[in-house]
Amino acid sequence: MKLVLASRNEHKLAELRVLCGLPEGTLVSAASFPGAPEPEEDADTFAGNALLKARALRDFTGEWALADDSGLCVDALGGAPGVLSARYAGRHGDDAANNSLLLRNLAALGPKAPRTCHFSCALALVSPDGREFVAIGLCPGVLLHEGRGTDGFGYDPLFLPDGRDRTFAELPREVKCTFSHRAAAAARMRPLLAKVLHAPKNA
Ligand code: IMP
Repeated sequence: MKLVLASRNEHKLAELRVLCGLPEGTLVSAASFPGAPEPEEDADTFAGNALLKARALRDFTGEWALADDSGLCVDALGGAPGVLSARYAGRHGDDAANNSLLLRNLAALGPKAPRTCHFSCALALVSPDGREFVAIGLCPGVLLHEGRGTDGFGYDPLFLPDGRDRTFAELPREVKCTFSHRAAAAARMRPLLAKVLHAPKNA
């Protein structure tokens, strides 16, 4: 059975393969399918975005398709940046601008505004015959007043996970991977993926 990931990022593929408990070679990149669509992520939930990516890839390849979508949700900001996490300040992937806008928006609510937040990850799996499955994983924490640490990406320096004394950007990647939102979503998807891998083709 071939499972195609709706991403061309080799790091993401390697991380998700391990987190989902998939044997080497079973998860292949969308890059192996020239011309595979990259739909606009315009749903208003992480699950919606993950599903639209997985559906488009399944339609194109006819294979099992897996996709993820994730982001940070800050309680005092009504869940923002949410699905806009990658482009909160306007330009896709501008982590410095996203982080400083987030701090400014939270500061504007005054010193008493709660700084609780969580990362959320949705993993969507679509079968060759169109059956759809979604797993959600969360990682709760608080937003610091300034960044700490140099590892990681996105909002990692500002995010202090509950029960830890190091931010996502201070923790070694292998430690973050044990309790991140992606790890939580993958742990929920794992049993289903194991079944799919051992089932007769397209079952
Ligand atoms: P993606 O869905 O994995 O591409 O994530 C979308 C955006 O959410 C990223 O560009 C980051 O801004 C943010 N994000 C998601 N996961 C993380 C994380 O583990 N650490 C920091 N930022 C994250």
